[in-house]
Amino acid sequence: MSLTIALAGNPNSGKTTLFNKLTGANQRVGNWPGVTIDKKTGKVRGHDIEVVDLPGIYSLSPYSPEELVSRNYLLKETPDAIINIVDATNLERNLFLTLQILDLGIPTVVALNMMDQVEKLGDRVDVGKLSKELGCPVVPISAIKNQGIQDLIERIEKAGGSGEVPEPVLFDGDMEGLIAEARDALGSKVPADRSRFYAVKLVENDHQICTEFASEKESIAASVSEVERKRDDEIDSIVADSRYNRISDIVGDCVKRAPRDERGTLSDRIDRVVTSRIWGIPIFLGVLAVVFLGIIGFAWGDFEVVGIGTWCTDWLNGFIEDPIQSTVADWCADNGVSDAMTGLLVDGIIGGVGAVIGFLPQMLILFLALCILEDIGYMSRIAFVMDRVFRHFGLSGKSLIPVLVGTGCGVPGIMASRTIESERDRRITAMTTTFIPCGAKLPVIAMLTSAVFGGNGLVAVGCYVMGIICILISGIILKKFRSLSGAATPFIMELPPYHIPSASNIVKGTLDRGWAFVKKAGTIILLACILIWFLSNFTWGLEFNGGETGNSILASIGEVLMYVFMPLGWGDNWELTVGSITGLIAKENIVGTFGTLFGVEAGENGEGLEAVLGSMLSTASGWSFLAFNLICAPCFAAIGAMHRELGSWKDTGIAVAYQCILAYCVGLVLYGILGCVGGWNTVVIDGVTVDNGVPIGSTIAAIVVIAAFVYILWAKDPFRQLAGRDEYDAEDEVKA
Ligand code: GDP
Ligand code: MG
Repeated sequence: MSLTIALAGNPNSGKTTLFNKLTGANQRVGNWPGVTIDKKTGKVRGHDIEVVDLPGIYSLSPYSPEELVSRNYLLKETPDAIINIVDATNLERNLFLTLQILDLGIPTVVALNMMDQVEKLGDRVDVGKLSKELGCPVVPISAIKNQGIQDLIERIEKAGGSGEVPEPVLFDGDMEGLIAEARDALGSKVPADRSRFYAVKLVENDHQICTEFASEKESIAASVSEVERKRDDEIDSIVADSRYNRISDIVGDCVKRAPRDERGTLSDRIDRVVTSRIWGIPIFLGVLAVVFLGIIGFAWGDFEVVGIGTWCTDWLNGFIEDPIQSTVADWCADNGVSDAMTGLLVDGIIGGVGAVIGFLPQMLILFLALCILEDIGYMSRIAFVMDRVFRHFGLSGKSLIPVLVGTGCGVPGIMASRTIESERDRRITAMTTTFIPCGAKLPVIAMLTSAVFGGNGLVAVGCYVMGIICILISGIILKKFRSLSGAATPFIMELPPYHIPSASNIVKGTLDRGWAFVKKAGTIILLACILIWFLSNFTWGLEFNGGETGNSILASIGEVLMYVFMPLGWGDNWELTVGSITGLIAKENIVGTFGTLFGVEAGENGEGLEAVLGSMLSTASGWSFLAFNLICAPCFAAIGAMHRELGSWKDTGIAVAYQCILAYCVGLVLYGILGCVGGWNTVVIDGVTVDNGVPIGSTIAAIVVIAAFVYILWAKDPFRQLAGRDEYDAEDEVKA
């Protein structure tokens, strides 16, 4: 018989790890909520069981879209059985969901996960007793160590096959009376198996169910207010209280805790420094700096260290030029291939795709670093540290999770904004997440760093800081619109203990993302490069121009649009404008386009891409180019993701327009202001340094823009709500 099993549990309880152990799939294991957004399914190896991995939830009252996904699935599609995975080191909180699941009247097995951790702490859990009190089978497991999994499969097969429904855990006296009354009122309007769940939700004022069964709610209203009066509290907190009372009885009966070390665990001690008010942010910036100095390198005056990534990239670029490009060119010449065809192959395809692939080593090292930081558990500390900053700007710390996911790729980053309960925060986050540089933007940053900024990896750190500042500023600005106004919602996030990263997780994560990058280069980027090559090698009369791109279709388009960017210091270099536009298809395309137009060679005296860029952009205009391209509309895939989250093309259009305008303003300000610094507006043409001087027009415009922003930031918030930020202290909640 085939069974469908749902895997439900709190975020971070180990659902994905267990799912992978059960199915052999390799989902990403993350340390923060939101990594699993839609439900995922897989088959248990060697059994006829389908497992559905639901998003992590704390309760079955739908506060966030992902809780809604889970609840709707459990209620509407009713699996044959549920594995409720609970974190055994944190039973008090996890059982809150368990008690609600047991009300559903669906066969349930509780998987008591993290038993390895429980043993390490020296605690003891009486599994038999717990099973008796919960009225359903309880199986101790350690998903990560692959212990107890077979036992779990047997129990769930039995539960699903027999259809045996767990005994609900009862509330105290008058609560059960209310529930019975609600069940009578609902009668046959809800499925008999599910009636206790609906009744409890009706009693506790669940918004969705009370709307659906308004008249039944009416009919029990008198009894509800009676209980409210008697206990002098609102019904929803009475219900939650009763649940927690039952839970603390159960935990008291079944768990014996070993005495804890006074100083806390090692993780606690590390966290006291890493998440401290004073050291948190410097450590975060330090970690970023180490990562990027390692990848890109460092240069200050005559002192220069080449990063590992840059070193590999230089080698790879050299290899692409000679032997690959040169061999193909020679072969074409020997075999009488036409000039146009040779150009397409050598410059268009190998030049464009090669320039992008050249950055593969840097990407791999970045992905490796991100995977390690994530697996150790440091990423959630960053969210915690930055939460304090974000709250000052009225943004929920929950916006941090999408931003952190977005450092890899903006698409899952934007999707992760779904975990945010507040509609307003969710929309603002979906609109601003891509300000943080994603993996695809790294090649652009790395390219400019070596071509324009003398190989200093701190430029990359600057890009992240710029992204965060833009998110914060946008938080303030966007809040001043009616549709997005409101107070920040509280952020509860737990910090999982640090652990030694698992090599297989890291290698898998790195290679997956690296492969995605290669695939993209072989498909989208390849097509784009071919298109760019045609547009830049043919005139409007469709005559081949022999690689003299100046009279091409692309040049004539770029030469019109380039006026838009002149105030940003990009001069009459239409290629820069064209690159920014092709970047919308995928950000790596900026590199691919320049590779097609200028050639790949990275050598110091070469005519290649870096030398050409160095003759077009100064330190000041280099920053404006980076700023514009990192902040403006993201790639099409990310715009699509934004559309899914914002729900309409109109709002998506507004979001994209906002991003582009902000990007332009930041570019203008950076160029106008940095251009005033002596020596920062010089370019190197054919080895000769040319000083472009202070861009006076841009500087004046920059001052106007700054003044306008200061005005908007300081202007009274017309929709300011007093509730929120000061009412809670996230720190207490997190540490609780
Ligand atoms: P999810 O959010 O419920 O999908 O949880 P994940 O599967 O992403 O796991 C959250 C964290 O707990 C990860 O860092 C896992 O490596 C860790 N984890 C999962 N299962 C176990 C376990 O049995 N023991 C220990 N010590 N850690 C685990
Ligand atoms: Mg997960």
